[in-house]
Order: sequence, then structure tokens, then C-alpha cells
Amino acid sequence: MRVLDSTPAAGQRARPAGVGPSSFAALGLDRSILRALDGAGYEHPTPIQTAAIPPALAGRDVLGCARTGTGKTAAFALPILQHLLRPPVRLAANDHSRIRALVLAPTRELAAQIEHNLATYGRHTECRPLVIFGGVSQLKQVQALRRGVDVLVATPGRLCDLMAQGAASLSHVELLVLDEFDRMLDQGFLPAIRRIVGALPAKRQTLLFSATVPVELEALASKLLHDPVRVSVNAQASTPDRIDQAVCFVEPANKRAALERFLDDGEVTRALVFTRTKHGANRVAQHLTRAGIEADAIHGNKSQNARERALSRFREGTLRVLVATDVAARGIDIDGVSHVVNFDIPADPESYVHRIGRTGRAGHPGAALSLCTAEERGSLQRIERLIARPLDIVGGAPPASATAAGAGAVATPAAAPTRRIAEARPRRRRRY
Ligand code: AMP
Repeated sequence: MRVLDSTPAAGQRARPAGVGPSSFAALGLDRSILRALDGAGYEHPTPIQTAAIPPALAGRDVLGCARTGTGKTAAFALPILQHLLRPPVRLAANDHSRIRALVLAPTRELAAQIEHNLATYGRHTECRPLVIFGGVSQLKQVQALRRGVDVLVATPGRLCDLMAQGAASLSHVELLVLDEFDRMLDQGFLPAIRRIVGALPAKRQTLLFSATVPVELEALASKLLHDPVRVSVNAQASTPDRIDQAVCFVEPANKRAALERFLDDGEVTRALVFTRTKHGANRVAQHLTRAGIEADAIHGNKSQNARERALSRFREGTLRVLVATDVAARGIDIDGVSHVVNFDIPADPESYVHRIGRTGRAGHPGAALSLCTAEERGSLQRIERLIARPLDIVGGAPPASATAAGAGAVATPAAAPTRRIAEARPRRRRRY
């Protein structure tokens, strides 16, 4: 594998315009695409785009290690659009089987976001993308597939269902993108992915993006990719420097009160609160609503309509607090999230990096607060090891040691943070 490590220097952010010497035109993109990028206000490619687009345009397979927020969607969407400007490799037999590019993504929200981006970047081309995902009626999706689609964005489960019914044929696919591959595996999509890949022509181009590339994934990727160019913007899990990250030690029974106090601060203009479970998300949203804080929850048990309604209210700013599980929040692309709150500390430290990547986007400052009980201190330590720095402590020092501490030894809600995290000064730096 050729390694093109585009990891930005410490402290360098991947996104803002002006980063990097190159321009989109220098990457070899077509004028119709450059026009759309100009219209979208993109001035310069991000590091993952600079690294991934040229080999992808040259027809190489790419293994991209990049998380949400780095501009990875355009890193594969632009090569797809450029590819579609060329005549098809395999002649379409009929309208059912004209899917030339297929993008697989783990969640409906991410799939919808990718389709939206393809439509934006491809607005001056003939490309008409279609998104399909579960949880909604199949009828319209089947009808749209019948009419003919050149780029299909899909969650693996629903695509398998439609393939089984003969509604989606993949025999003309020339380009496959697997986005957030690590998440798709976490969510048990491997059998569905195998079925889908088995239905694709063996001779194709494959672009695979993943926030992390653990050893198991490398082995799997090497089966899916042919002599890939490897590009990376976050070889190590890193969190953007402009996100203020703090932890508040609380007793389990006091978490909701601590959250409520924190959200009372006028600085918290748009907060995304993460819980571990769907029920937890409901309970937190109900508690906040009763306390007079407008909040709603999104998770897999909610209907697609309810999720979209909550998301669009959050996006428009009429809903200040959105409570979500990790799965539901995947791919949410909303600029201006002022604060991320980890109501529960994620057991998987990489989820922490994903979660807090929802704030501090589009050049805005961001802040993340984690509410940590004595029981969760092990998870907190793993996070701090992964991001290679301790979180600032607000609202009171932790007990001397997690094992020595009973739940009662942690800070009381009176010590919960009410000031802006950005202003909080660590009371004590911990070492691990
Ligand atoms: P992504 O990592 O693909 O989810 O992208 C994160 C955000 O960055 C989205 O809001 C994109 O619209 C935006 N974005 C992607 N590439 C660029 C770019 N080159 N310049 C400015 N914004 C970008």
C-alpha cells in the first residue's frame, strides 16, 4: 500500500477555507463541479480532499482514514461526479440497472446527508442521486429505482431487501464507496455488505472511508480494495484544538440536575446531548422539557418523520437541545452546535471523538462537557489516553481514586458547572 499521509500538523484544523496551498481546480476537477463548489462557498480543498481526490480521479482504490468534519464526503462525492461525466463502462440494459456508483453508509441521516451533498456538488451536471434507507415505505424507493438512477446512496439493510425483491440491480456499478466503514461493522452490517459486494462486478473502483482503521478492518479492507492508496488525516484519534473539553464529576442521581443547570447558561445556544440508551435519551428529554428547557430526543425507536422533524427544528434553531444516541447522531451535519454534552460517558473512546466532533465546526468555537460518575471513570481514562490529554475539571475535584471512591464521594450538584466551559479553568490536572 502506498501511504500518502496528509495528517495536518498539530493544532491545524482540517476544514476552513485557506488551508493548504492547492485549489480544487489543481486537483483536476471538471468545470461544472468547480462551479458548484464555488457556489457552495468552498475555497480550498481540505487535507483529506487534497490527498484522496487525485488518486480517486486516476481510478485508484482508496483507503481513507478520516472522521466526520474533515470534509470526507466531498473527498469521495467529487470523484463520483467526475466519474459520471464519462460514458458508462458497461452499457445499461434497461432503466433498472443503471446504477453506476453506489455509496453505502451506516445510518439514514448520514445517507441523506451524502445524497444532499452529491446533489449540491452535482447541480451543474446530469447526476441525479437517490437515497434509500429503512424505516420508511419502500414503494417510492422502488419507483425511483425503476425510473433509473446513476448514483445510489443506501444503508446496507434496506438495499439488501430491495435486491432480494429484484428492485435494485448492481450489475452495472463501476464505483463503490463504503463510508464510515468502522461504524457499519459495529452495527453488524458485515453480512449485508458481503451480500451487496457479492452482487457487484469484480472489476470496479472502491473507495473506503473509516474514522479508525484497526487491524481487523485492515484485513477486511484488503479483500475489498485492490492495491489501495492510503490517505489519512487523523492517523491517531485527535480532537480539534478549538473545542474546550471539560469533565464534571457527579453522582448518578444528580446527573439530570447537573445537566439542567448547565443548559440554563445563556451561552449554551445549541446543545447536542448524548446518552448511551434510547430510553435514557427519552428520559433526559422529558426531564428537560418538564424543567422548561425545550428539548427533543432522536433515536432508532422514533419514526423517520419524528427524527427529521426534531433535526430540522434543531437545525433551524427553534429547538435548543437535542438528545441523541450515538447511532442516531451519526452523520448529523449541523453547523453551530455550541455545546456537546456527554450525559453518559461512552464506553468506546472513539465514540467520544465522534461525539465532540459535532461542535467546533465551520470555524465556530465549540465546547464539550462530560458528566462522569465514579463508575464511569475507567471509560474517562481510556478517552484521555486516546486523545492524549486530560480533560479540564469543572465543578469540583474528583475523588482520589476511582476504586476507593464510592458513588457518594463524587461532587454534588451544587458543584455542577454553571459557567461556560470555555471560561472554566482546570482545578487540577490529572495524570494517568
Ligand atoms: P464532512 O466531513 O464531509 O461531514 O464535512 C463537514 C463539513 O465541511 C460540511 O458542512 C461540508 O459542507 C464542509 N466542507 C467540506 N469540504 C469543504 C471545503 N473544502 N471548504 C469548506 N467547507 C467544506
